[in-house]
Amino acid sequence: MSDYHLHLHPHADDTHHPAPPWGKYPPGWIEAYVETAVTRGVEELGFTEHLYRCVEAAPVLGAFWEWDWRTDLADQARHMFQEDLLLSLDSYVQAVLDAKDRGLPVKLGLEVDFFPQTIEAVVDFLEPYPFDFLIGSVHWIGAWSIDASSVAYEFERRGVDQAWEDYFNLVADLAGRGVVDVLAHVDVCKKFGYRPDVEPLHLYEMVVSAAAASRTAVEVSSQGLRKPASEVYPSPAFLRMFNEAGVRITLASDAHHPGDAAYAHEEVMEAARAAGYDRQLRFAGRLPYEVPLQKTSTTVAIRDP
Ligand SMILES: [Zn+2]
Ligand SMILES: [Zn+2]
Repeated sequence: MSDYHLHLHPHADDTHHPAPPWGKYPPGWIEAYVETAVTRGVEELGFTEHLYRCVEAAPVLGAFWEWDWRTDLADQARHMFQEDLLLSLDSYVQAVLDAKDRGLPVKLGLEVDFFPQTIEAVVDFLEPYPFDFLIGSVHWIGAWSIDASSVAYEFERRGVDQAWEDYFNLVADLAGRGVVDVLAHVDVCKKFGYRPDVEPLHLYEMVVSAAAASRTAVEVSSQGLRKPASEVYPSPAFLRMFNEAGVRITLASDAHHPGDAAYAHEEVMEAARAAGYDRQLRFAGRLPYEVPLQKTSTTVAIRDP
């Protein structure tokens, strides 16, 4: 089995989890993720650092918060962006490539933040890098950090229905472009428990048909289980719709420290099976291949760093 959504550093405001200095990958750090995952029956890890946290990407992404007239949201976004801008894309890529060279079962991915205004420039910027796969995320609607608790009040100010519609319009736009391989936490708008009265299948359908047309996959993630949503991303109905449309899946934890690697992996597999899936995707050099959705008995040898 695999976990195709992991970060090697916590966010700047996470003081609960000890981590190496920003942008450093000391011996044994990637191994710690692999060791935890192996105990949970997962033998391949795809790392997906946040693009927006890498200093090299800042000129490409630009001051995206300035496109929004809501100054409170813009102030929060600017602060979060600047506070989190602590990593180097080149150092991250090298650390994962070095881990591959050490024989670790890892893949090189990246979590690409979607902004319609800059996505094409981002794609060009990433082109020279040897990524195995790219996951795509909508974290910002204009300057609104939809998954940041400090601005969760925007759900009530904007209205939950409008917030979900704004969010899914962006996800459908991303899905239709076919520029990333996998859609990440595709219904993260439910993270804090703000949900419409009726599950908006018409919004899901927009995303599902766009993903099916562009042959973009979707991840089944345990991150929602650790949040007030208390539910895997995507929801059972949403995931069934993806399956019926032939959209393939990866499995994900969205861990930001070694202890969460392959978190709740059994629940993720159960959610995928319940939606009708019996296979999962893996990637090598941006090319997908399918493997059965079942635990393997492969033993992973972890060499001493
Ligand atoms: Zn994310
Ligand atoms: Zn993530």
